[in-house]
Amino acid sequence: MKISPIPLAVRTTCAYCGVGCGVQATPQADGGILIDGDPSHPANKGKLCVKGSALGDTLDLRGRLLHPQLRGDGGMRQASWDEALERVARGFGEIIAEHGPGAVALYVSGQLLTEDYYVANKLVKGYIGTANIDTNSRLCMSSSVAGHKRAFGADVVPGCYEDFDMADMVVLAGSNAAWCHPVLFQRIARLKERRPEVMVVVVDPRRTATCELADLHLPVRPGTDVWLFNGLLSYLAREGAMDAAYVGSRTTGMAAALAVANIDCADPMEVARVCRVEPAKLLAFYRAFAATGKVVTAYSQGVNQSSAGTDKVNSIINCHLATGRIGKPGMGPFSLTGQPNAMGGREVGGLANMLAAHMELDNQEHRELVQRFWNSPRIADKPGLKAVDLFHAVEQGKVKAVWIIGTNPMVSLPDANQVQRALEKCALVVVSDIMASTDTTAFADVLLPALGWGEKDGTVTNSERCISRQRAFLPAPGEARADWKIICQVAQRMGFDGFGFGAAHEIFDEHARLSSWRNGTGEGCVRRMFDLDGLAGLGAHGYDTLEPVQWPVRRGPTGAAEGTRRIECGGRFVPTAPRAPVHAASAEYPLALNTGRVRDQWHTMTRTGKAPRLAGHVAEAFVDLHPHDALLYGVREGELARVTSAWGSLVARVQHGGGITRGSVFVPIHWNGQTASDARVGALVSPAVDPVSGEPEFKHTPVRVEHFGVS
Ligand code: SF4
Repeated sequence: MKISPIPLAVRTTCAYCGVGCGVQATPQADGGILIDGDPSHPANKGKLCVKGSALGDTLDLRGRLLHPQLRGDGGMRQASWDEALERVARGFGEIIAEHGPGAVALYVSGQLLTEDYYVANKLVKGYIGTANIDTNSRLCMSSSVAGHKRAFGADVVPGCYEDFDMADMVVLAGSNAAWCHPVLFQRIARLKERRPEVMVVVVDPRRTATCELADLHLPVRPGTDVWLFNGLLSYLAREGAMDAAYVGSRTTGMAAALAVANIDCADPMEVARVCRVEPAKLLAFYRAFAATGKVVTAYSQGVNQSSAGTDKVNSIINCHLATGRIGKPGMGPFSLTGQPNAMGGREVGGLANMLAAHMELDNQEHRELVQRFWNSPRIADKPGLKAVDLFHAVEQGKVKAVWIIGTNPMVSLPDANQVQRALEKCALVVVSDIMASTDTTAFADVLLPALGWGEKDGTVTNSERCISRQRAFLPAPGEARADWKIICQVAQRMGFDGFGFGAAHEIFDEHARLSSWRNGTGEGCVRRMFDLDGLAGLGAHGYDTLEPVQWPVRRGPTGAAEGTRRIECGGRFVPTAPRAPVHAASAEYPLALNTGRVRDQWHTMTRTGKAPRLAGHVAEAFVDLHPHDALLYGVREGELARVTSAWGSLVARVQHGGGITRGSVFVPIHWNGQTASDARVGALVSPAVDPVSGEPEFKHTPVRVEHFGVS
């Protein structure tokens, strides 16, 4: 009798959201891949959501970019890696020589692994000598980064997922966790099952699926979160609910923040009026927050994606500082990151205003330290262009070469028609991607085939600072290469040393050593906050067998690596004067467009669009509005409507999801020019950004809605 070998499961990490679930991928005899949750991973303990479970359906080679391509007179043609790398290196080199380093830029992605991000950042900031590298993470959590830095002196999430198990009250602000962070939401649902007395509060203009768990839903008027949380700060002070000892010994700036909050938000009736919530509900929230010790306030894109996103984040953190609820079991402010490696990118300086190892571009000591460590010929000395500004600079001809890696800005950036004008004008557009045909690859002069999930090897960091391995279990298709390798090969062809890495673990080791090197810089507990000393010198085997671990990771008394669940650091109150969204509704554009995800799709659908079972939930783009507004503007459920803003328009089918308040419209972000219904919501979205973080205002663009047809 022939005995079949038992297939070996490979332990890896999900490709999608910032929950960062552990996955077991088991190759099957028929060539398929069986996907299960990893019971040993602390983020999910074996659970997966629908998207994660369907990962195996997205791994076929349909539509994959398998060979480098170059644009010639007759359009795109297949090329060798030698030709393609030379074209990129020479093209970048010539533009830098003629126009200076600021004339080139990289635009990267929270889909990249930490190792990819690390070498991209090193190339741009340490060798080319500009900080023009930004990421699509700018679009989802940069307001949290800026808010953390203002409050804690560093970009740090103080708490961990375990706090959701221990809390007596969970506030979800601007977060449809049921759809966008499903496994974490299930964790909160289990908490409610176990302890029904735990109070769940949802702050969201829409009545989303997350509200099914809510004891209290505050359907705030879009853009009014700062009023709500300033009002809470004022209430806490008035009711004597602050932790005076903590505020006195661990914080600064309380009086100034409270004074600003009291200007407009001291009267709960006035706050309720501005936020358009029932006064009784508002007071119920304030009373419960004041009376409950263990409160976790989790927030996501509804808070971040705003022209006042950083202030919204700080208005939340202020309330936790006031009550001393930071970095202790069962309590704390908690930023839910959107992408699988938004956090890892931040660790290695993947934003235009940061250096590697969470160091600061505007800090001379940090710049010198990084340059010395890299032994690099130069170091960028001022912040680069943030995402929206970057593509404006491309259109203005200031940036003449852009390398887009693992992202689809033609769909995902605001004012997408402007992005198209920019790419049409750009002298050299390089795109590294796994897919051959996206809205963005259409504008490439050079296309570089990258490895996808299941093929590449590296690390990601989730919302709770947990570093996990993504491991390869599939062979590289065609001529596709790891992103880190492509970046290093371009760097070497540009004549730069410092990129002779032979494997991902060598890059991770350099990252860990730089993080431990920086110890001693910064103030107070920031000095050792980013330490990865416990992960330096892992070697190939140690890296391959690395278990999930939360940073900082230090060496314990026995020399073993020890992670850190919570960081208790005190902080700084930030005065947050409330202000309205940049563009107000008008007679021409009377409705406020809100955008977001649906449960079973991911970003621009280049991967989830391959899995038929994921289309079963929502099959096409839609425009959701209140039935009264539909009546008012002459559109009917099931028919098509045109949605128009000052920046563009799209056509989608009308639905009344039942969760939207009057005056608002919701359109999902996923549909693109390659799908049956071309409904790129980015074409509508205002390019207004938060002045501190540069994060776009995806949650508030004035639009009008008109009848389009019935097909
Ligand atoms: Fe993947 Fe997020 Fe779903 Fe977990 S919750 S399986 S990380 S998409």
